[in-house]
Amino acid sequence: MSFQSKLPNIQTNIFTIMSRLAAEHQALNLSQGFPNFPSEPALKALVSEAMAAGHNQYAPMPGIPELREVIVQKMELLYGATYDPETEVTVTVGASQAIYNIISSFVSPGDEVIIFKPAYDCYEPVTELHGGKPVLIQLRPDFSVDWEEVKQKISPKTRMIIINSPHNPSGSILSREDMLTLESLLKDTDIILLSDEVYEHIIFDGEQHQSAALFPGLAERAFITISLGKTFHNTGWKVGYCLAPAPLMHELRKTHQFNVFCVDHPMQKAYAAYMKEAENYMGLSSFYQQKRDYFLDLIKTSRFSFTPAKGTYFQLLDYSRITDEADTEFASRLVREKKLAAIPISVFNMNNADNKVLRFCFAKTDETLEKAAEIICSI
Ligand code: PMP
Ligand code: GLN
Repeated sequence: MSFQSKLPNIQTNIFTIMSRLAAEHQALNLSQGFPNFPSEPALKALVSEAMAAGHNQYAPMPGIPELREVIVQKMELLYGATYDPETEVTVTVGASQAIYNIISSFVSPGDEVIIFKPAYDCYEPVTELHGGKPVLIQLRPDFSVDWEEVKQKISPKTRMIIINSPHNPSGSILSREDMLTLESLLKDTDIILLSDEVYEHIIFDGEQHQSAALFPGLAERAFITISLGKTFHNTGWKVGYCLAPAPLMHELRKTHQFNVFCVDHPMQKAYAAYMKEAENYMGLSSFYQQKRDYFLDLIKTSRFSFTPAKGTYFQLLDYSRITDEADTEFASRLVREKKLAAIPISVFNMNNADNKVLRFCFAKTDETLEKAAEIICSI
């Protein structure tokens, strides 16, 4: 059969490739971002209870009311932001489906979407799939944004701008000043902001997460995407949500209803009960800061160099003092010869620029981090 690929340049993504390679070689897998420790027994028990209580049929299309209600309360508590649970929150199949549907709902052929590189891998292909044109901006070497360049790249065709803080893969964060600058750049435009905030609860060294919800000029045009998999150590449950002003959300639900219609009912019941207690998510930053610090302390004498991540559960390690081989080659050799899997950063960069940096996920047990550190220090 002949057909024309809609994504001719897209290969299997790096997370699939590295996790598969790690399994094949029985390597420690610090590549794909997921925890290797169990999530809370109380949360899992709530899922079983919901199933036993008969919540096994379709959930309401936008998400169950009690989950939307606790999400709205959480936004109020964290950012003093007001969202209407009826019209401004939709529960999605992870943040991935939210991102897909937001782009799908608003990006038409010829529209431009500003994306910062390195970027999480789905933004660009989903834009292209809908005929949009990704307008790429490489972050500076320290992963800060050149707002002057953003200003120059905004055009009458700009439909959307995608930001992601805390940032995957770099672990950098956007500051209040960054958000204020963005707010002034977008003033008096019809540009939609997609603010991917899946790591909102993983931010270190006393920094505050600068949600788009904190800035009225951004909130009025923003979709905020959140992943409960990240927050509650259940990436395999694939539950997330997005928030936006009612007219934007109304449009999003048109695609959501034909894409998945609704999200796993028992998981929604469990999250709705579990998230009522704010302490169930407020301690995440200190939990992961301990992991980051433990990991970095263990590898401080290695030949890799690093700047500690400011957020997320990823740490970049620069190996340029060790070898000048390409990061994809080095990552592949690390799995085969040293039994340690990481993600090469070039795959997320503009023109696949290779700066000799790998990404390691430290959402792992101390034992795994110790084993990984031993390998890292032996190189
Ligand atoms: N955005 C970013 C920046 C991510 O890192 C991820 C996944 N780790 C997602 C979106 C997707 O989240 P989910 O697993 O909830 O679909
Ligand atoms: N977000 C995870 C990461 O960055 C992986 C998600 C995926 O496998 N698509 O590693």
